[in-house]
Amino acid sequence: MKQFDFDVIVIGGGHAGSEAAQAAWRTGARVGLITLSFAQIGEMSCNPAIGGLGKGHLVREIDALDGVMGRVADVSGIQFRLLNRRKGPAVQGPRTQSDRVLYRQAMQAEFTAKENLRVIEAEVSDLIIENQKVGGVILADGSRVTCAAVVLTTGTFLRGVIHIGHEQKSGGRMGEKASIPLAKRLESFGLPLGRLKTGTPPRLDGNTINWDILESQPGDDDPTMFSFLSKGPTAKQISCGITHTNEATHRIIRENLDRSAMYGGQIDGIGPRYCPSIEDKVVRFADKTSHQIFLEPESLSGSTVYPNGISTSLPQEVQEQYVQSIVGLENAKIVQPGYAIEYDYFDPRSLTSTLQVKDITGLFFAGQINGTTGYEEAAAQGLVSGINAALQAAEKEPFILSRADAYIGVMIDDLTTRGVAEPYRMFTSRAEYRLLLRADNADQRLTPVGIKVGCVGSNRSKAFSDKSSALAQARNLLVSLSATPNELVKAGIQVNLDGQRRNGLELLSYKNINLCDLVKIWPQLKTVSPEISAQMERDAIYSNYIKRQQHDIDATRREEQLKIPATMTYENIAGLSRELQNKLEKTRPESLGQAGRIDGMTPAAITLILTQIKKHKL
Ligand code: FAD
Repeated sequence: MKQFDFDVIVIGGGHAGSEAAQAAWRTGARVGLITLSFAQIGEMSCNPAIGGLGKGHLVREIDALDGVMGRVADVSGIQFRLLNRRKGPAVQGPRTQSDRVLYRQAMQAEFTAKENLRVIEAEVSDLIIENQKVGGVILADGSRVTCAAVVLTTGTFLRGVIHIGHEQKSGGRMGEKASIPLAKRLESFGLPLGRLKTGTPPRLDGNTINWDILESQPGDDDPTMFSFLSKGPTAKQISCGITHTNEATHRIIRENLDRSAMYGGQIDGIGPRYCPSIEDKVVRFADKTSHQIFLEPESLSGSTVYPNGISTSLPQEVQEQYVQSIVGLENAKIVQPGYAIEYDYFDPRSLTSTLQVKDITGLFFAGQINGTTGYEEAAAQGLVSGINAALQAAEKEPFILSRADAYIGVMIDDLTTRGVAEPYRMFTSRAEYRLLLRADNADQRLTPVGIKVGCVGSNRSKAFSDKSSALAQARNLLVSLSATPNELVKAGIQVNLDGQRRNGLELLSYKNINLCDLVKIWPQLKTVSPEISAQMERDAIYSNYIKRQQHDIDATRREEQLKIPATMTYENIAGLSRELQNKLEKTRPESLGQAGRIDGMTPAAITLILTQIKKHKL
C-alpha cells in the first residue's frame, strides 16, 4: 500500500480548518494542518463573539461530537448571554463575547503535544491530483507533502481584495497576504466559482471612549455554557457599552456614499444581507434615525473595542468623522480602520453531503470557501469534512447528518442542494424540525452517533454515559409514580378533574407543571439533580409535539436513505421538464430527499426519478 506523509492534510488554520484537523485526528487519522501562520490559528477575523441564534445551536452540535469550538469559547468567554431567554428553549441561542487573545491561545493549545497531529507553517500553492483523486499538496517552496485526503479551508484568502474607500489592496485579512496561486489552480479544475464580500467595523481605543455616560449591558447572572463538559466561566466577566448612531452620523454617511467601496461600484461580490454595513443600513432603512451599537471590549489584556453594528468600507477619515458624531465616542480614536473584503468562493452544489468535491475523490471543502459566513458555520463544516476525510483515508463508510439529525445537516443540505446567492448564515428558521433540534439536547441527538463513528474521546463518552443513566433513572422514577386528579389538586397541582390517573412524566409535559411542583406530592424526586431536572422538563415540554412530527421526521429519514446512484443521468427521463433535467444534472442529488428539495421540484417529477432509480438498480 502507498505510504503517505499524512492520512489527512488540512489547508488553513481558521475556524473550519482547526475543527477539521481536530476532528480528523480524533477519528484516528494522522493529520497535518498546513497554515500560513501558527500564531493566527483561532484568529477571529471580525467580531469577538461566538454563538447567537442558530449559530449557538451549531456550536452545541460541534461540542456534542467532541469538537473544540464550544470548549474554547467557554474558556475565553468574558460575557455570556442566552438570547431569546423569554422564548421556548427550541429557539434560545447561547452566545458569548470572547477575549480574542484567550480564544487564540486556547485554540492553539489544542494543537500542542498531540501525537499524529502536526502543524506546518507554509503556503499551499497547488494540489497533487492524479486520475481525479487527491494525493497531496505542493507548498510555495516547491516541496510536496502527500496524503490520502485534503480538506481545503482557506476562508476569505482566495484572491482576497481589501477595500477601504477607493483604496484596494490584495489581502486575505487585514495584515495577511491573499492566496493567489492556489486560487488560480483551483479555477483550472473548472469548478463553478463566484465572488462574495463581507465587511468589518473600525476598532476603537477603549481608553478614548466616555464609558461614564453610556448605558452598560452585563452578561447573564447564570451563564449558559456552550460545552456539555464546562461547568462555568473561567475568565473575568465584563459588561459592554451601548450607544446609538444619530441623524448627524447618518448625514455624514449619506454625504460620502460615493466614497464607500460597497457603493462606489468597486466591489462585484455579494455581501451578507443579515450583517449589513452601516452604509447599507442608512440607505435601506432610510426612515430610521438611529441604530444601536454594542461596544464590546475585545480582550481583558488590551484596550481595543469592537463597535458591533457599524461595519464599513468608507475611507478612514469619513470613519473618523462618523464615529466621533456618536454619543460617548466624541473623542474616540480608531486603532484599525473598518474594511470590506472580496474573495472567491466555490458553488457548494459541487459537493456531496460529506463536503467532498463530487468529481475529485479525497478533496473536501469547508468554511467560507463554500459561500458561508461566520465562525460557527465554518467550524461545523470543518467538523464534518474532517471526520469524513479521516473515514475516507481509512476506507470506511461516510458520516452524514440529515436535516432531521442536526442544524449541521440542515446547513450542509441547504448548501449542497440549493447553493448560495449571498453569504449563508444559520438561522433557527432554516430548520423544519426546530422542536427536535434544540441546543439543549444536542448531546442526546449526536454524541451516540459520534461515539459510533469514532470521533468522541473517552472523557466525553464517560460524561455522556453518566448523564444518560441519570436521565433514564429519573425518567423511570417519574413513570413509576402516578396520581389521580384529586390527589394532585390536593397537593396544589392544577389538572383537569377528569378522573384520569397521570404519571409523573405526563404531568411534566404540561406547561404549568415543573419538577419542583411534583416534589410536593412525591418527595423522592428531590434526589434528581437540578441539571437532570432542567433537561427532563425541556424534553417533556416538547415530547408531544415531537411525537406529532415523528411521521414527517421518519419520512425525511427514509427519503435520505433512498440513495440515487452517482452514475444516474436525467436527460432521458421522459416526462421530466428540461428545466428540472438541467437542475438535477447540475446538483446531482445523492438521495431522493435531496432531489425533492431542489427548487421547482414536483411530486410527479419525484415519482419519475423514483422509477428511474429502480430501473437503474435492475
Ligand atoms: P478563516 O478563518 O479566514 O481561515 C482561513 C485560514 O486559511 C487562515 O488560517 C489562513 O492562514 C489559511 N490559508 C489561506 N490560504 C492558505 C494557503 N494557500 N496555504 C495555507 N494556509 C492558507 N463573519 C460573520 O459571521 N459576520 C461578520 O460580520 C463577518 N465579517 C467579516 C469581516 C471580515 C473583514 C472578514 C475577513 C471576515 C468576516 N467574517 C464575518 C467571516 C468570518 O471571519 C469567517 O466566516 C470565518 O473566519 C471563516 O472561517 P474559515 O475557517 O472558513 O476561514
